[in-house]
Amino acid sequence: MVDEKKDVREIRINPVIPTESVLVATARSMRPKKEEELAPRDTRKHVDRCPFCTGNEHMTPPAIDTFPEEKNWEIRIVENLYPVLGSEVQGQNYVFGLQQAIDGYGRHEVIVDHNHHGIALHEMSEKHIANLFTAYRNRMKLLYDTDSRLRYVLVFKNYGPAAGASMAHTHSQIIATPVVPNNVQSEVENSHAFYKKNAHCIFCTLIDEALTFDATIYDKYSGEIKRKIDVGQYIIERSEKFIAIKPFASRYEWEVHILPLVHQADFLTLNPDDALDFARVLRRTMQRLDTVIGGAQYNYFLHSLPHTTADSGCKNSYHWHLEICPRTSIPAGFELGSGLFVNTISPEEAADQLRGVQLE
Ligand code: AMP
Ligand code: ZN
Ligand code: ZN
Repeated sequence: MVDEKKDVREIRINPVIPTESVLVATARSMRPKKEEELAPRDTRKHVDRCPFCTGNEHMTPPAIDTFPEEKNWEIRIVENLYPVLGSEVQGQNYVFGLQQAIDGYGRHEVIVDHNHHGIALHEMSEKHIANLFTAYRNRMKLLYDTDSRLRYVLVFKNYGPAAGASMAHTHSQIIATPVVPNNVQSEVENSHAFYKKNAHCIFCTLIDEALTFDATIYDKYSGEIKRKIDVGQYIIERSEKFIAIKPFASRYEWEVHILPLVHQADFLTLNPDDALDFARVLRRTMQRLDTVIGGAQYNYFLHSLPHTTADSGCKNSYHWHLEICPRTSIPAGFELGSGLFVNTISPEEAADQLRGVQLE
């Protein structure tokens, strides 16, 4: 444990992307950030005028896919009515002087996660969450298989106004882009560099450390113990196939990542058995977050190996994962100006609280 509940003030480096660092500053008096308001949750089952509720299917574009069937759907995928990227090519890619533009070609789809308007993720059954992630997987596969112009298919969820959600009905989105987003590309490149040096996946190494490692750091002059770090304290949940970890360099106070325990680069390899096991870890993690935060507003997103020729050599070095980023404080000028995230709760303290929640 890091110096038993003492205030932490340190810059922590993201091991996968070392140029991304986080300032962990926990002293209350120096809280540099405004906290997000807790938003009252809309728990209604059905809302007459909600375009994502059953009976209002005519208020969205036609379904691209539904589960288990169109009539009694539990999960419904539609085109986004206000897409940020479109499937028709509008203009040429062009360059003038130092300026460059790429046509905004791509896809923007909405996944209505459940037919119950206001249900939270931890209230859904494990089976339903498994079906939802299988629906993501199937849709991603179809997009990659049918359109070679798409370089990356990003699945993400905004839940609650603090996370940027404009619709209260529980939903996620797919945005497929003609370029690999920088966050994913940096992870792919840095983990590949680590692999070339160490012949091991950096994500697998982080998991191994979390499962086995504890460290004692001594003062090099006096020989006194400066700090003891029990890396196992960062494990929030663990199942047969998945692990939920609180990152040592968490950007967000309650950030948690879920990864497959055995190396897997591509989310598309998820089979129904894995999906059920994953759903259990995700559901329990969300339940812990909801209990501790008192109503979690969050974004989550999937990072998986892009389907480009350049990235096909990274199957051994990249490791897919889900990043859950609860939004409890508002990034402001310092974060925007410096690129340094400020986290006001020590990841050790947050992990401790999350692990402490009693689940049935
Ligand atoms: P968010 O802003 O994260 O809540 O995502 C909701 C998404 O739903 C936005 O991207 C909207 O463009 C999209 N949207 C809003 N109304 C409709 C509708 N009637 N049919 C399809 N998509 C919609
Ligand atoms: Zn609704
Ligand atoms: Zn790995």
